[in-house]
Amino acid sequence: MMRRSLLLLLLALPLLVSCRGRQGAGMPEALPEPPDAPTPALFEPEFSQQAIPPEVEARMRGKSYPPDAQISLSELRYLRLSYFDFEGRRQTGEMVCNAAIAQDLCEIFQALYEAQYPIRSIRLVDDFDASDDASMAADNTSCFNYRTVPGQRKLSKHARGLAVDVNPLENPYINRSGRVMPPAGEAYVDRTRDFPHKIDREDLCCRLFLAHGFSWGGAWAHSKDYQHFERVK
Ligand SMILES: [Zn+2]
Repeated sequence: MMRRSLLLLLLALPLLVSCRGRQGAGMPEALPEPPDAPTPALFEPEFSQQAIPPEVEARMRGKSYPPDAQISLSELRYLRLSYFDFEGRRQTGEMVCNAAIAQDLCEIFQALYEAQYPIRSIRLVDDFDASDDASMAADNTSCFNYRTVPGQRKLSKHARGLAVDVNPLENPYINRSGRVMPPAGEAYVDRTRDFPHKIDREDLCCRLFLAHGFSWGGAWAHSKDYQHFERVK
């Protein structure tokens, strides 16, 4: 060790001497380093899938994943998906889905990101206490939620993580009796009108989901669920 330290010192000595020598010879002193210019933080888009991490499981338990859920957590995947929000800012959101569609969702959301397709937010419904009403009212895009179809006892495809709702405020669910969900979606029930974030057959999001083997709730005969895409099994 001693010999190595000595060697380093010997190697460094001429360098120290030469620096001193330059200053001593009347060279202008080096200007102080300019303060770091603000550099925009690099954004790394993510389209990743993994088993449900313990901290995500803790957020889900008792909310989107109730104690009586008839689906194993090992059947689900945690996704991180980047997107452009309505203000055009890059964001990365979280989604839980069935393992069977995880790869499809990564590919669909990557294609949407590359097209800068605007999405209001992508958060777990657990951030809304697993209230579908609250998540829809916040115009949140989401997938897994162990719940029934509103007003029915039948389990929703969301309970298996096989359905995704996109921008639900502008693309509401109108059930057989004409109830609009979320209620503020009433302003967007008339689909003959043109407005931003409307999902129709020409919409990129709709075309991508259909190309990946999903069906679209906007095509249903007896109710309309314009936000909803589900995997047909
Ligand atoms: Zn849905």
